[in-house]
Amino acid sequence: MTTYQTGRDFAVRMDREDALAPYRAQFHIPQTAEGKDSIYFLGNSLGLQPKTAQDEVLAVLDDWKTHGIQGFYKGHAPWLTYNQALSDLYAPIVGGKPSEIVAMNTLSVNLHLMMASFYRPSGKRFKIMAEKSAFPSDQYAIKSQIKFHGFDPAEGLIELNPRAGEKTLRTEDIIEAIATQGESVALILIGGVNYYTGQLFDMAAITRAGHDKGCVVGFDLAHAAGNVPLALHDWDVDFACWCSYKYLNGGPASIAGAFVHDRHPQELDLPRFAGWWGHEQETRFLMSPDFKPSPGAAGWQLSNAPVLSLAPVKTALEISNQAGMDALRGKSLAMAGYLEFLLNGLNSDAFTIMTPSDPQARGCQSSIVMRENGKATHEALMAAGVYCDWREPDCIRIAPVPLYNRFEDIYDFVQIFAGCQG
Ligand SMILES: *Cc1c(COP(=O)(O)O)cnc(C)c1O
Repeated sequence: MTTYQTGRDFAVRMDREDALAPYRAQFHIPQTAEGKDSIYFLGNSLGLQPKTAQDEVLAVLDDWKTHGIQGFYKGHAPWLTYNQALSDLYAPIVGGKPSEIVAMNTLSVNLHLMMASFYRPSGKRFKIMAEKSAFPSDQYAIKSQIKFHGFDPAEGLIELNPRAGEKTLRTEDIIEAIATQGESVALILIGGVNYYTGQLFDMAAITRAGHDKGCVVGFDLAHAAGNVPLALHDWDVDFACWCSYKYLNGGPASIAGAFVHDRHPQELDLPRFAGWWGHEQETRFLMSPDFKPSPGAAGWQLSNAPVLSLAPVKTALEISNQAGMDALRGKSLAMAGYLEFLLNGLNSDAFTIMTPSDPQARGCQSSIVMRENGKATHEALMAAGVYCDWREPDCIRIAPVPLYNRFEDIYDFVQIFAGCQG
């Protein structure tokens, strides 16, 4: 455990001793009006641009310019197999085998594709269990799937609620809900890290409890991938989806990822929405009228891979892998603890922190609940060069990320934040 100290010199020393500090230079940091580095705490919404991204995009454009359609087979990274590299790079980040992972589409699209295969209501088992206040897109996707199968979301959706007076869910309450209601549940679909509270769920325990009751278990890892270590294969998770533009720095609306446990693709009769790129690669161009899925997650692809959008993701994932999830997690928890230490040191009743302080139950993000004037505080922070996020009615979300944020950013932020309180 790090013993935190209040002075700026502590932050300076932490940065000097930080083995990950050199990674900051690999990213473009947005500048303030005065030409200084801003304090960028929005890696939970859109990660910063790796300096290598532009070269990789240009290299793909060059291959197209030089080779035309031959770019599928020639050039610096042939398009036919381009996204294999992404599966390999994702594997250590989400804890899956490359064959269990595919880079395709965007997150909400993948949620639907996965539910097409894995939400199979039948008889009394027709419900989806999700956490209350999931990200809106997930709520829309889930409710529309329930309706698509002819059920009323009022009956077909079980939402897990925190206890009265609490902001986050207790694992024991989730397990209890699964134990008592699991027989009516076809699918459990939960955000691995909740986008609003920053709470990290015990995915291994939830998966075990769900499987004990015969439920399929999937996770939305938008706020977990690249933020916390994951072991999807070993946890026996059925499927998962994530976006690549938050903690993974792949660029705006960059191509997302999906995981399907390798128990499943063996069941080749599993219903799925199919497209030609999911067809077995060796025989794809025989143009057979009958779909023969690629083994593994690749069998869920519909269209040919959008190489230009995959290019920045590839370079970004290379950086995350070089740093390594364990090292990133170590720094992330040290930074989160430091932020909490400094905020608590303000001894202010103007705010509370809703994110659990237990390292097992959190990632990078801290969600600060403002008692009043939250919106004005957020505006003042932005004006002072702190990129952070405002969620109605009272929440400021702060995400110090280990790849490019410094302990000094946290120190400076808390000074500015204290100043905003007047
Ligand atoms: C960011 C986020 C999304 C966004 O979905 P897109 O399809 O990428 O626009 C969806 N769900 C969760 C939980 C998110 O955090």
